[in-house]
Amino acid sequence: MTDPVSGAPTSNFIRQIIDTDLKNNKFEGKRWQLPPATLASLQQAPVDTARIRTRFPPEPNGFLHIGHAKSIWLNFGLAQQYGGICHLRFDDTNPEKEEQTYVDAIIDAVHWLGYDWNTDGVSHLFFASDYFEVMYGFAVEMIKAGHAYVDEQSPDEIRETRGTLTSPGTNSPWRDRPVEESLQKFQEMREGKYPNGSLALRAKVDMTSPNINLRDPVIYRIRHAEHHRTGNDWCIYPMYSWAHPIEDALEGITHSICTLEFEDQRPFYDWTLEVLADLGCLARPLPRQFEFARMNLNHVITSKRKLLKLVQDGRVSGWDDPRMPTLAGLRRRGYTPGSLKLFCERTGVSKANSRIDYSVLEQALRDDLDPIAPRAVAILDPLKLVITNWPEDQTQLCTAPRHPHNKEAGQREFMLTRELWIERDDFMETPPKKYFRLFPGNLVRLKYGYIVRCTGCVKDENGQVIEVHAEYLPDTRSGTPGSDSVKVRGNITWVSAQHAIPVEFALYDRLFLDEAPEREEDFLALLNPDSMQTVQGWLEPGVDLHAGPWQFERLGYFAYDDVQSADGSIVINRITTLKDNWAKRTN
Ligand code: ATP
Ligand code: MG
Repeated sequence: MTDPVSGAPTSNFIRQIIDTDLKNNKFEGKRWQLPPATLASLQQAPVDTARIRTRFPPEPNGFLHIGHAKSIWLNFGLAQQYGGICHLRFDDTNPEKEEQTYVDAIIDAVHWLGYDWNTDGVSHLFFASDYFEVMYGFAVEMIKAGHAYVDEQSPDEIRETRGTLTSPGTNSPWRDRPVEESLQKFQEMREGKYPNGSLALRAKVDMTSPNINLRDPVIYRIRHAEHHRTGNDWCIYPMYSWAHPIEDALEGITHSICTLEFEDQRPFYDWTLEVLADLGCLARPLPRQFEFARMNLNHVITSKRKLLKLVQDGRVSGWDDPRMPTLAGLRRRGYTPGSLKLFCERTGVSKANSRIDYSVLEQALRDDLDPIAPRAVAILDPLKLVITNWPEDQTQLCTAPRHPHNKEAGQREFMLTRELWIERDDFMETPPKKYFRLFPGNLVRLKYGYIVRCTGCVKDENGQVIEVHAEYLPDTRSGTPGSDSVKVRGNITWVSAQHAIPVEFALYDRLFLDEAPEREEDFLALLNPDSMQTVQGWLEPGVDLHAGPWQFERLGYFAYDDVQSADGSIVINRITTLKDNWAKRTN
């Protein structure tokens, strides 16, 4: 969200709305207290010091994914830029699907991204379930004022009489029942006298509205289910479309930002707030809802329900599998908070739905890490190189910059020995044109070492090359005056076979080959069978395993995986290659 030249936040339609609101002093005199803030309780409260209030309102029914990162970045980012406060609010009104583990994972993910909800010693971490009692009271007020009624139709009947896009709905036979009756029934619903689905509280709006969401939506339903926070205190739960505006209002939210699919809900959002403000339940100014386009990333599923299916079916190792688009998975893979924020900035905030290519995410990682990632050498597909004129017991210290553009990062040191590991594809017995690496007779530089002349190779009984032989040219050591005396076009990486550390590298590919796996209900059929490959390779000695992510020269960006390494082995994830290979592969 920053202009690359001035560093100032780039504008978007939401920023323009906020700018206008602030210019018009829309929130002047607005009071604030710890929620739930009703009109009555707010009267004694001090004026809000926050210039705006936003919120990130996840439902704790799964781990957060890359799409949520956009919403977090937007809501917390706007609050930071405008001298406001962003709340982290759990929208926990759906007891069957919600769990404390998800609450914990979400808190962890938002923190990891670098955002915090504590301001001046006040925690702005809230739970919709803390408002259940107040919400119940509001529902009672709505019934009393004739704005809600208890319907005894079954869920199916309610659906059938709702009408369609082209035909109006029909009134429930219970719509005009006496207020007293609805009050009584609603209380009995709360007391647990009825089974799930037998009764519902509906808002009385307009069964003929062209907007189906205004055709007397259900606002409370019966659910005999244990809630992860309120236990068995409740057996009726408010519906999202009614609860959400109330949660926003009880927290003094000024800008309630959500994704486009809620655009049709906005009239009911406003209706609910207006009715409750008129009834003296809520204070003005009321929150307003604004919608932006969801982030859709190619080859990626961003639906908690579908991600849960991948976990439950054992298609991945868990929510934090490094192939998962969850923040926990991206984190374990090696993605940095900075790279995800850069990705959010670059993809911007728009009113129009679109798909973003996966390469944009990978490029954000490269751009975030390139200036800071320490360099090292790793060999993923090892082939032995023997320098035949190098004495068996001789070792020579070589140095290389930790970072090519940052002298202050210093130098790394490693040994050159007679036997080395090189990448298998850095040797070819009969090379094609423009192949400048090792082949018999060719000269190549061992990076940070000497120039060597390839003299041949050794094969096993199947004809597979198992060893490459070369002789080094003594005066050509890197960094010495003789290093330029011979010109070579190939420059290859290596590690000493005697000193290198054995490492398992996990190499990942897209979890789905299909660009838009979400559009298929049977999305499991679209899984890439080869989304993960592990290889046994070698790592430059002396690399601090906890100082990554690194750039391994010529290969890409890598990060230590402490989950997979828990058994004492060393497992390193490839986050992404240095260049985008995908486009090349599919074209
Ligand atoms: P899911 O379908 O994965 O459960 P959701 O929208 O139901 O997603 P919530 O927990 O309700 O998940 O989302 C919290 C916030 O994150 C909401 O404001 C929602 O609009 C936003 N959000 C979710 N997915 C995306 C996305 N792909 N792009 C941008 N914002 C998103
Ligand atoms: Mg949701």
